[in-house]
Amino acid sequence: MNVLKKYSGPLIMLAVFESVAVTLWLTKDNLFYLFNFSYIGCSIALGLALYTRKYKHARRIVQLLVGLYMLLYLGLLSRENMQIEGFWYYLFSGVFEAATIHYAVAKIFGPLLFGRGWCGYACWTAMILDLLPYKRPAAHRKNWSFIRCVMFLLSFIFVASLFILNIADKESIMFWSFLVGNLLYYAVGILLAVTLKDNRAFCKYICPVTVFLKPMSYYSLMRVKIDEEKCISCGKCKKVCPMNVDMTDNARTRVNGTECILCAECVENCPRQALKI
Ligand code: SF4
Ligand code: SF4
Ligand code: SF4
Repeated sequence: MNVLKKYSGPLIMLAVFESVAVTLWLTKDNLFYLFNFSYIGCSIALGLALYTRKYKHARRIVQLLVGLYMLLYLGLLSRENMQIEGFWYYLFSGVFEAATIHYAVAKIFGPLLFGRGWCGYACWTAMILDLLPYKRPAAHRKNWSFIRCVMFLLSFIFVASLFILNIADKESIMFWSFLVGNLLYYAVGILLAVTLKDNRAFCKYICPVTVFLKPMSYYSLMRVKIDEEKCISCGKCKKVCPMNVDMTDNARTRVNGTECILCAECVENCPRQALKI
């Protein structure tokens, strides 16, 4: 019974993903969905279980298991564009497949439950950026977030143009845009991280997906909460936060609250165990 209670988090997450896996498998009559969401659910549940056991690389393991699977298997081998262009592409095609399902689960409705867990545990762009040494942002946050909205609009215009101009062989264009887009993301992400000494600079200023992620994660069920009685205002939590969140404020309107990637760095570094997710 105690074991069940101890691992209730991983078990609940596994149950959520299995429900999605079985529902999509049966409704769409496609075994791929059973495999896909079971794999992702098992990877996340494994990471959460390792985290419960205080294994320090738990998050990185999930990030690699899910990120590499999506990048190499879905993106390169299965030629699915899982970037935002792929989402627009399938949406405009009127097909509820691959990228549209991925976006619905991980980036649009899922964040109501697990916030920006995608960004902390699964994104293949951050999977590489998190290998860089600038885990704690050195400088103050810049006021450049408008770039994300520009990128969002550009991705929309790019795919809409393919349909309006009736361009042939969109599938192939989508595949190549996935390859080129990812290479550009990595190049810009690494350049920004090195210049600003901040691994997550790309997430803060450039990534268009945040236009979906931020408003939905505002209502997230899972979030960092502080026990103000225990806090001694030492400020350690804010120093280690890669996303400049003010987690010492419990309000949903906390500074950079919708930037939290649930990495738990603040929770692990609080000397008073005043924070929990
Ligand atoms: S903000 Fe974008 S690049 Fe960063 S982790 Fe989230 S989805 Fe990935
Ligand atoms: S690290 Fe803990 S004790 Fe220190 S300010 Fe943050 S919540 Fe409070
Ligand atoms: S350090 Fe805490 S507040 Fe900052 S992103 Fe990670 S979990 Fe969220």
